[in-house]
Order: sequence, then structure tokens, then C-alpha cells
Amino acid sequence: MSELSEPLENYLKEIYELEETKGHAKVVDLIDAFSISPGTISKALDRLESLGFIDRKSRRIKLTEDGKRLAIRLIRSHRLSERLLTDIVGLDWIRAHELAHRLEHIWPEDVLDKIDEVVGHPKTCPHGHPIPGREDRVEGVPLTETKPGEYTVIMIVKEKEWILRMADSLGLLPGRNIVVLDNLNGEVKVQINNKENKVPRSLAEQVIVRGAQ
Ligand SMILES: [Zn+2]
Ligand SMILES: [Zn+2]
Repeated sequence: MSELSEPLENYLKEIYELEETKGHAKVVDLIDAFSISPGTISKALDRLESLGFIDRKSRRIKLTEDGKRLAIRLIRSHRLSERLLTDIVGLDWIRAHELAHRLEHIWPEDVLDKIDEVVGHPKTCPHGHPIPGREDRVEGVPLTETKPGEYTVIMIVKEKEWILRMADSLGLLPGRNIVVLDNLNGEVKVQINNKENKVPRSLAEQVIVRGAQ
């Protein structure tokens, strides 16, 4: 596989995740996500197009099969790097995510397979995002859309520091069972480990849960 610069790899990954969540990626989304100038992004997209990783029609950007393959490889690498850093090295999930942004670009495929083995072939990253090829669809709803009842935390959507810090302090961790007591326009009162807490809407919309069967 051809070598791309780190920023170009990051754009590919972002386009993949935009396609996953919104169905398509636009130039404005990328300008937004990376806080870069239209000139910089347009140069980068020209390069990615000439290398055959993306197609552009009107304002939409689509990954080609090669682009998709590389993006998936990077995402797998990011999520397995996080597992390595939390499960084996013992870092918290904030630092793990930050460092994984760098590590995701360096592992050769065979090393990544070894890491996968060492961390026990996990289904998701520590934040609950699926390892590609293992469990592609995340079934669940944001905490903001729940009714009172029992749920399991599945995933934290955006791995931003303030979100992870607050989720951690409230005990909203993937795999945890919680009870929703009340939902007032997205501000959710929950019981976790027998403790009651209010989850502000800004956090609740980042937490995906699944009803307990
Ligand atoms: Zn991450
Ligand atoms: Zn993660």
C-alpha cells in the first residue's frame, strides 16, 4: 500500500467516518473538523483524488475501494492501539485516544495482527467503537432518547477529553448497567452502582445505550 502523509491519512479517516455517520462527506465538513483553510483542504483532496483514494462529484466526496480499504486499516489500527494502551500499558482512556492518533500511522499489518492477539481480539475500542470487521453495527440509542428503565452503556461517540472525563467520573463506561430514572428534555437522571446522578444533555447525547433484555 502506498505511503501517505499523516494529514492525508487523517482526511481519509474523517471522510470514512462522515460517510458512516452522515451518509456522505462534504468539503465544509472537513474544513470544520480540522480547522483548516479551504485552500489547504482543496490541495489535499486534489492529491487524494490523483492517487485514486477518493472521487468527487459536485460537492460530495466519496472514498474509492482503495480509499475505503486504507481508512478501515487506519481505524482498526487506532482502535487496537487504544486497547494496547489501556489494557496492557495501563493508561487512562483519554491519553490512550490521544496517543493512538499518532500510533495508528506506524504499525505494519503483521504487527497490528500481533497486537490484536495480545489484547485478546477485542470487539471494540475502550470507548466502545467497533473494531472493523468484527462488529460493524452499533445497535443502540443516545441516552437523551431513553425512557425510564434498565440499560447497558455501549459507546461514547466523540472521544473528546471533557466528554471522556465527565463520563468516567459518572461511571458511564461501556459495559456498565445503568438505570434511567427520569428524562427531562435530554437531561437524564440515572442510577449507577446505587448512586443517583444527573447527566447533562451535552454528555447524554454522546452516550449510546442499549435496553437491557
Ligand atoms: Zn480514539
Ligand atoms: Zn476509542
